[in-house]
Amino acid sequence: MQTRLIDIRTDRDTALNEAKKLILDGQVVAIPTETVYGLAANALNAEAVKKIYAAKGRPSDNPLIVHISDYSQLLPLVKEIPEKVKLMADAFWPGPLTMIMKKSEVIPDITSGGLDTVAVRMPKSEHARAIISACGVPLAAPSANLSGSPSPTNAKYVLDDMNGRVPLIVDGGACEIGVESTVITFAADIPTVLRPGGVTPEMIRGVIGEIKIADAVLHELKEGETAASPGMKYKHYAPTADITIVKGSLESFCEFVKNKDCFVLCFEGEEKLFERFVTYGRADDGLSEAQRLFDALRELDEKGAKTVYARCPEISGVGLAVYNRLIRSAGFKVVEV
Ligand code: AMP
Ligand code: MG
Repeated sequence: MQTRLIDIRTDRDTALNEAKKLILDGQVVAIPTETVYGLAANALNAEAVKKIYAAKGRPSDNPLIVHISDYSQLLPLVKEIPEKVKLMADAFWPGPLTMIMKKSEVIPDITSGGLDTVAVRMPKSEHARAIISACGVPLAAPSANLSGSPSPTNAKYVLDDMNGRVPLIVDGGACEIGVESTVITFAADIPTVLRPGGVTPEMIRGVIGEIKIADAVLHELKEGETAASPGMKYKHYAPTADITIVKGSLESFCEFVKNKDCFVLCFEGEEKLFERFVTYGRADDGLSEAQRLFDALRELDEKGAKTVYARCPEISGVGLAVYNRLIRSAGFKVVEV
C-alpha cells in the first residue's frame, strides 16, 4: 500500500475530502489531534475498526477511544449520560479528556475490546474536529504508532511507523499537548482516572469532587491483578534504548551517571553537564515535558542510544501524565540516589 501525506494547513479541502472518502470507504487514516496523532476509522464499522488493530499490531482486547466533533453525537453511543459527565463535558470538552460510559448497541464489540463500556472524547484540535465532522460519523482512533512504541506527535514519526500500512496521513504539524488524553471511567461507583493526561486530577476534582486514581497509574500491575483499563497491562511507549529513571537531586544524578557508558534524558538547562543527552522540557513545567517526552524517546533511538538514565519529573499536575508514560517506557525501572 502507498502512503500519501497531505498537509491540512496548506491543502485543507483536499485533506478533508480525501480523509472523508477513505474513512467512509472503511479505510484507516492517520489524523492530527492536540494530544498525539491518531489512526482513525469509522467507529461504527467493525470491518474498518479491525484494520486499525492490524495497522498497529494492537491486541484486540485493548479498546479504542471514540472521537466526536459535537456533543449531540454522544447520546447515541451510550446507554445514558451520567450527570457528572455533563459537568465534565461543559468544563473540558473539546479537550484532552476521555470519558468511559456504558455503551449502546451501535458500538461494535471490536471497538470496545469486548467490554460493555465505551470511551469517548471530543478533541480540541480544529483539524481533528473538521475531519470527524466531514465524515459525519464518530471515529475510533488510538495513537498512530506501532503497538508498544512511543506515540507520534508529528507526521514524520507517524510515517516512520505507518508507511505502507495506511493509505493517508493528514499532517497538521506538531501536537500541542504531546501525551494522550486523560481517561476517566464513569462506569465505576466513584469516577476513577485510569490514565492521567492534560486534564489533571486537581482540575477534575474542582468540577465533580471526589475521584479515585487507579493504582496502575503509578505502579506496575502485580501478577494476576486485573487491569481496570486493558491498555495498562501491555508494554507501552518503549523505545529500543533501555531506560532507567533516576530519582534524586541533580547533583546525585550527575554523580550516579559519571563514568557510565550511557545517554542522559535530562531537562533543558542541564545540557552542559552531560556529553550525550536528549532534553525533555523544563524541570518546573509539566506541560513542556509532555510536549517533548515522546519525541525525545524517538530521538534517543535515532542517536543510537543503548543505555539511558532519565531525570525524574515532578509527579504532580501534568507531570503525573509525564511520569506515567516515562515509567512505562522504562519498564518500571527506577533507582533512587
Ligand atoms: P490509546 O487508544 O492508545 O490512546 O489508548 C486508549 C486507552 O484507553 C487504553 O489504555 C485503553 O485500554 C483505554 N480504554 C479505552 N476504552 C476503554 C474502556 N471501555 N474501558 C477501560 N479502558 C478503556
Ligand atoms: Mg497508544
